[in-house]
Amino acid sequence: MSQEPKSQESNQPLHPRTRAVHHGIRRSQYGEMAEALFMTQGFSYDSAEQAEARFLKTGPDEFIYARYGNPTSRMFEDRIADLEGTEDAFATASGMAAVNGALMCLVKPGDHIVSSRALFGSCLYVLDVLARFGVEVTYVDGTDLGQWRAAIRPDTRAVFFESVSNPTLEVVDIAGVAELAHAVGALVVVDNVFATPVYSRAVEQGADVVVYSATKHIDGSGRCLGGVICGTRQFVREVAEPYLKHTGGAISPFNAWMMLGGLATMELRVRAQTDSALQLATALKDEPRLARVIYPGLPDHPQHDLVQRQMGAGGTMVAIDLGSKEAAFAAMNRMRIFQISNNLGDAKSIVTHPSTTTHQRLSEEVRLDLGITPGLLRLSIGLEDAGDLIADIRQSLA
Ligand SMILES: *Cc1c(COP(=O)(O)O)cnc(C)c1O
Repeated sequence: MSQEPKSQESNQPLHPRTRAVHHGIRRSQYGEMAEALFMTQGFSYDSAEQAEARFLKTGPDEFIYARYGNPTSRMFEDRIADLEGTEDAFATASGMAAVNGALMCLVKPGDHIVSSRALFGSCLYVLDVLARFGVEVTYVDGTDLGQWRAAIRPDTRAVFFESVSNPTLEVVDIAGVAELAHAVGALVVVDNVFATPVYSRAVEQGADVVVYSATKHIDGSGRCLGGVICGTRQFVREVAEPYLKHTGGAISPFNAWMMLGGLATMELRVRAQTDSALQLATALKDEPRLARVIYPGLPDHPQHDLVQRQMGAGGTMVAIDLGSKEAAFAAMNRMRIFQISNNLGDAKSIVTHPSTTTHQRLSEEVRLDLGITPGLLRLSIGLEDAGDLIADIRQSLA
């Protein structure tokens, strides 16, 4: 059974940092301290009648198959839903299984979706797949509420956006878009990876469904793939779960178990990484060899007020522009601490050249339109010392 930590004052809510350590734990008869890893596909029943009853209706602690649910996965789902402030969550095999599941389960041919155009390459791919099956997708500049207003129609089923876009760190006004979407009854689906569960208050601000790639800040050490869809119990269990459990998008119990460990330290890590990101962006912003430094936590970010209102901090990602692909490649090849890779949210700092890797699939014209210039580098700030990271970038520019 699920057990809650005891608070002294029963009506005093526990701080998220406390809930991230304790919430949703289901202890077995052994009373194990750490969350148990139930590495099992199936569950045995006491009788044929019990099996029949489970298939008719499964209760909160009744599992039938790991593709449908598993006690370890359920602990992760309960804990992330609690932190996000949603009634429920479904854990998926990857962030993309979550994005695909959250959108695919909602629509049928002829439906209309409005999406911000500044998206992670794989998210754009999922929208292309939806279009192939007869869903109409309208793309807007996510930072422009006027474009959302013009694109949302009475028959719009859902709006979709990354609350902080990858890699140019544009911020979408969740409350503003939600007001427009809700006026026509459309669901607001937010990919919140860059905001992180630490700084996100997306549901409070009007999002209906929040999607994470747990691969990023939740794991936090670049080990496991995972994702999660957070929303109302009705959406998660009656709309998303049927799609996911039948199409095979469920998380591995092992990965869910790793993510539970990640959640316990996530707030400390993300706050430390954000502190370093701010220090690095501040140190580099007047660097003459850089054409641009983009960081949502800098006062000169075009949406700084919105960032403060929506997230309260700039997050763990910084983008810098060295002016040309040659300069960008030369700097990457000189970096010693920053690893050339394409993940993010890792304890190790990572440098990515979006235009030749994560966003290579797009045409040059679309890339430039999105601000993904040939000289742009995306930096994911890890847990190393901020001074060492700043020195590494400086020497790489030499
Ligand atoms: C990484 C990422 C995803 C996909 O997550 P995976 O776990 O790699 O499948 C989706 N959206 C954003 C914004 C991401 O950064």
